[in-house]
Amino acid sequence: MKNTKETIKEMKEKLFLKKKHALYNMTDEQLAECDSFCEDYKKFMDAAKIEREAVIYSIDFLKENGYVEYKKGMKLNPGDKIYSNNRGKAVMIAVIGTAPISDGVRLCVAHIDSPRLDLKQNPLYEDKELALFKTHYYGGIKKYQWTAIPLALHGMICKADGTEVSVSIGEDEGDPVFCITDLLPHLANAQMAKPLARGITGEQLNILIGSRPFKDDEESGAVKLNIMNILYEKYGITEADFISSELEAVPAFKAKDIGFDRSMIGAYGHDDKVCAYTALRATVECNNPVHTVVTVLTDKEETGSDGNTGLCSSYLEYFIYDLAEALGSDGRTVLSASECLSADVNAAFDPTFPEVNERNNCSYINKGVVITKYTGSRGKSGTSDASAEYTGKIRRLMNENNVIWQTGELGKVDEGGGGTVASYIANLNIDTIDLGVPVLSMHAPYEIVSKIDTYMAYKAFSVFIND
Ligand code: MN
Ligand code: MN
Repeated sequence: MKNTKETIKEMKEKLFLKKKHALYNMTDEQLAECDSFCEDYKKFMDAAKIEREAVIYSIDFLKENGYVEYKKGMKLNPGDKIYSNNRGKAVMIAVIGTAPISDGVRLCVAHIDSPRLDLKQNPLYEDKELALFKTHYYGGIKKYQWTAIPLALHGMICKADGTEVSVSIGEDEGDPVFCITDLLPHLANAQMAKPLARGITGEQLNILIGSRPFKDDEESGAVKLNIMNILYEKYGITEADFISSELEAVPAFKAKDIGFDRSMIGAYGHDDKVCAYTALRATVECNNPVHTVVTVLTDKEETGSDGNTGLCSSYLEYFIYDLAEALGSDGRTVLSASECLSADVNAAFDPTFPEVNERNNCSYINKGVVITKYTGSRGKSGTSDASAEYTGKIRRLMNENNVIWQTGELGKVDEGGGGTVASYIANLNIDTIDLGVPVLSMHAPYEIVSKIDTYMAYKAFSVFIND
């Protein structure tokens, strides 16, 4: 029998992979829920620009929802909701399941640090009656993007007597902001002739913080003195206190809807707070799961996950060992039976820069949450590469629960690349795959995500931990 137009259409329907805009597969109710979820997300983004603030926000939210701080030795029962704060920079959350803990836990891991400019240990100086801060950038940035934009200062100072002050300047309507200056085009001939990567250097990322001298002093250094005096009056700090501080300059932008159709969100730090918030919400809304749920919001991903608040440290392992012990099993049994979604963003296809992506395998905004089987670069170096079996399991789970998803690969082969925490978790003998939201302008001071993809990430975490 000869194939007709109709049967060929049917064959295509049956045999081809379809990649439609997610909107076509959503009901009006779902879209309304998506938009309302994203209003909450924007509030989180404005309240939690740095990891310490994300921890404070999360713990407040957890406590409001009946979570208690875990102490070693605490008796644990199915349904219990606990959290553990790692030095104010990372948080582990658990909901105890009804199944034996030896069946493994369902792990979601996202990071709450984002690229930014950290102040150096001796940051303050004056030059030609301008006061400035020296910085050392944190994570992968394109330095030129950080000049001539409003910056806010967040973090904490540990004073000589051991007391701590937290700092947040530049976010409230009446606050001043700070700024890194750039050359006017008229005098930038030499700068403009340089390759983009060298147009602004790391040592040129100096933040302008003041220009009026201390009035009763006409000596040199009066502008610096005036700044130090303002800081002394406001925080009780002296210059030496910068040595034991962590002050982070971040864009002073607020999270806003992008587009006439308000379909996207622009904000600083979607990478990876978009996965942190969606995983946090899914976890808090999870009651009486079968498998014990462990959600981790970690620090230091952007600098390679080293340090005691980064995922290369043993803090997650210790937490799971403690849970195992409290629930009558042992750490290695629990780890080996566990499954993980490494919740991190991926690069979305950008029609302005199509040359870096391979169109059949990159992710697109509005096509749903991205499942990334492998990351890495130069022949998959540095990736844990999820197995076909585990990828298949996650794929089935998403399909059965109407979560709209797509696959993604970070750029063309040999174009560059990057990694996530997936390999550190997989190295604990845990089945791990990357799942997250596609982002435009990743690592820029203002990144863009789609509301639908954000909502689908939330759905994906929810389906995974409730399975
Ligand atoms: Mn990330
Ligand atoms: Mn990143």
